[in-house]
Amino acid sequence: MVDYIDAKNLKLSKKDMMTCTMCGFCKSVCPTFEGIGKDTGVARGRMILSYGLLMKDLPADGSVIEALYQCTTCKDCERRCPSKIKVVDVVERARRDLVDAGHMLPRHRKVVDSVRKYGNPYGEERSVPEALGEKPRRARVGYFAGCTSAYRNPKISQATLSILKKLGEDYTVLNETCCGSVLGRIGLEEDAVKQMQRNIDAITEQGVEEVVFSCAGCYRMFKEEYPRHVEVPFKVKHISEYLAEKDLDLGKLEKKITYHDPCHLGRHSGVYQAPRDVLSKVPGAEFKEMPKTSAEARCCGGGGGVRSAFPELSEKIAGRRVDQAEFADVLVTCCPFCVTNLRSGGEKTGSKVEICDLVELVEPLL
Ligand code: SF4
Ligand code: SF4
Repeated sequence: MVDYIDAKNLKLSKKDMMTCTMCGFCKSVCPTFEGIGKDTGVARGRMILSYGLLMKDLPADGSVIEALYQCTTCKDCERRCPSKIKVVDVVERARRDLVDAGHMLPRHRKVVDSVRKYGNPYGEERSVPEALGEKPRRARVGYFAGCTSAYRNPKISQATLSILKKLGEDYTVLNETCCGSVLGRIGLEEDAVKQMQRNIDAITEQGVEEVVFSCAGCYRMFKEEYPRHVEVPFKVKHISEYLAEKDLDLGKLEKKITYHDPCHLGRHSGVYQAPRDVLSKVPGAEFKEMPKTSAEARCCGGGGGVRSAFPELSEKIAGRRVDQAEFADVLVTCCPFCVTNLRSGGEKTGSKVEICDLVELVEPLL
């Protein structure tokens, strides 16, 4: 059956799609184009497909759905696009229309079912405080670990908690649930907003003044997306911003280090300097930037639901990013998702570069 969808969300981006001049500048930066090598794997191809869906010139078949879900939503094309097209908005609106029409990739369906049932994408029955082994209480600072650090990369959440403790902070873990990022990226805005309200209610009850994040994706949600839907009655800070403000007395680390900007923290949230300020406080460390860095940083390939639905593509992109850090002993980043994906990519290419989160680097030196 030929399936033309009612693209009511895409209608809002019609002007954007029509503004694409097909110049192809987005090809030079798109991480998925590098991995796929076809025009449907780059912003301009995705603009054509979305426009086709809107005008009912194209049915929502498997190839169209795949191309729209292979975008990591890294936003690098928007920086490069002379027509200033909001590519990520177009892609995410197309995804909402596809989901509304009953099209969801099987691997995403599993993730969505898990968030609805357990409040996290990993099918975990434990709450985040249980996974972290701490009891939530009232305190000045709340630590929002996020599902990936709490359940899949606990070294990052444990390092963050240890840092807060060593700095004498009045902190607590939070009665958190999934921040909603994964739902928003897949195209379930309503479900994402429900998660937002759940988190705001739970955190407000704990009376914290400031919430600190070690996950770039959760941080972006609270900083950029929550305020569009719910009231956020506390300050939000990424742990790199929190640490950059502190007078840190760190031990020596005589290694060559470099830094990968997570798309969620950099291009989506505008935080570039804080992690670099923290790294500059490490005595003995020799810091050098990667070839593509800050606003021009290449995506690790893990975002936008791509790692869960297309793991091979995701690892291929990550491997290329790790290759750009071969001059360093340690590649530091600020997101558990980037850490996991870069490590997978590095393993595939046989890279010798050590990959770690900023908190994993700082904690033992504190
Ligand atoms: S850079 Fe912008 S205008 Fe040019 S092809 Fe890509 S999306 Fe279209
Ligand atoms: S957001 Fe990133 S992955 Fe998606 S089309 Fe743009 S550059 Fe490519």
